[in-house]
Amino acid sequence: MTSSPFETVDCVVIGAGVVGLAVARALALAGREVIVVEAADAIGTETSSRNSEVIHAGIYYPKDSLMARACVSGRRMLYAYCRDHGVPHINCGKLIVATNPAESEKLAEIKGRAEANGVEGMRLLTAAEAQAMEPNLQCTAALLSPATGIIDSHSYMLSLQGDAEARGAMYAFNSPVEAGRVANAGIDLEVGGAEPMRLRCRLVVNSAGLHAPTLARKIVGLPSDRIPPAYYAKGNYFTLAGRSPFSRLIYPVPVPGGLGVHITVDMGGQAKFGPDVEWIDSIDYTVDPHRADKFYAAVRRYWPGLKDGALQPGYAGIRPKTVPQGAPAQDFQVQGPAEHGVPGLINLFGIESPGLTASLALAEQVAGIAATA
Ligand SMILES: Cc1cc2nc3c(=O)[nH]c(=O)nc-3n(C[C@H](O)[C@H](O)[C@H](O)COP(=O)(O)OP(=O)(O)OC[C@H]3O[C@@H](n4cnc5c(N)ncnc54)[C@H](O)[C@@H]3O)c2cc1C
Repeated sequence: MTSSPFETVDCVVIGAGVVGLAVARALALAGREVIVVEAADAIGTETSSRNSEVIHAGIYYPKDSLMARACVSGRRMLYAYCRDHGVPHINCGKLIVATNPAESEKLAEIKGRAEANGVEGMRLLTAAEAQAMEPNLQCTAALLSPATGIIDSHSYMLSLQGDAEARGAMYAFNSPVEAGRVANAGIDLEVGGAEPMRLRCRLVVNSAGLHAPTLARKIVGLPSDRIPPAYYAKGNYFTLAGRSPFSRLIYPVPVPGGLGVHITVDMGGQAKFGPDVEWIDSIDYTVDPHRADKFYAAVRRYWPGLKDGALQPGYAGIRPKTVPQGAPAQDFQVQGPAEHGVPGLINLFGIESPGLTASLALAEQVAGIAATA
């Protein structure tokens, strides 16, 4: 611990990923004084720049889960935000494709779940109807989700940052939070980096993504039984040279742990396949080229036209899991004083997909807790 005096601040958001940025904006719009402290030298360098950039409709999540609610409401808010702020996005829609009769039967179940979550416009299609929309597709049936889309996530994050700055929020980059302590009227933080700081905060929002559980363990006075363990499930992507064969996003029927190897397109028109699911022990973004073998097999079930050698290793992102491989799916965890008993602290755990889509809804929830925390 350094001996420099504490600087008193109202709110500190730890982490400038898409969720931290949305939270900082919501707090700033609510009139709070906000500092965002970020370990890296820029916004969105971790999971927020290593995802599929899909605006999810909210299809798969268990009814009434936070993931389901935050995805559906966050998606509506996100489309409106993109329109109002000129953030590049396309409401392109997606097809979930069955490639055998057993999968065809699952589509009706997926449609039911989506509708229970409040997803609009879901429609079962025959193989012929799906192929009329996407001539390169091979399937036995499909489910259309018109609400799904894609977004330029970096433009979105820049816009969130700008909104918050316009309301007085400040950003400290190269500023890793190294330690914390529950104090009388809030939380004390020790921030390292080139210009170390000691902050006495009325409110701290731990939005450190993959590192959120580790960081929470460093906050002395926070009951450790409220902090979930951290597990990592890597998702590898392979890119396709040339034009995308599809104009919509194409997803297989989901597999345990992920959505299956799907094809998405980014705003630049680059088609990519993935993410797969690879459980790992430590953070490592290397893409093993040999994993392409499984991608060819998975993709050719719905796109037989995929040519040998067409896939190139792309990038990887890591899902911040709070449960191990094989355990029932996790939900997002937004923990405030009601959950852990510490005034002035909000922890965000397990914010994997659809965290980008849900970011504005999660931010609204955090701002609501913050108003009384
Ligand atoms: C493979 C994959 C695909 C996905 N695809 C989609 C998708 O298509 N659509 C969708 O809606 N969602 C998707 N997601 C989910 C989405 O990407 C995440 O939910 C979202 O990016 C999480 O944002 P975040 O701000 O919580 O975390 P991050 O983006 O990881 O940000 C956390 C930040 O905290 C900082 N930090 C960490 N520790 C400290 C510290 N001690 N001090 C200061 N700063 C610190 C980090 O440097 C980082 O910048 C996907 C996720 C994965 C892994």
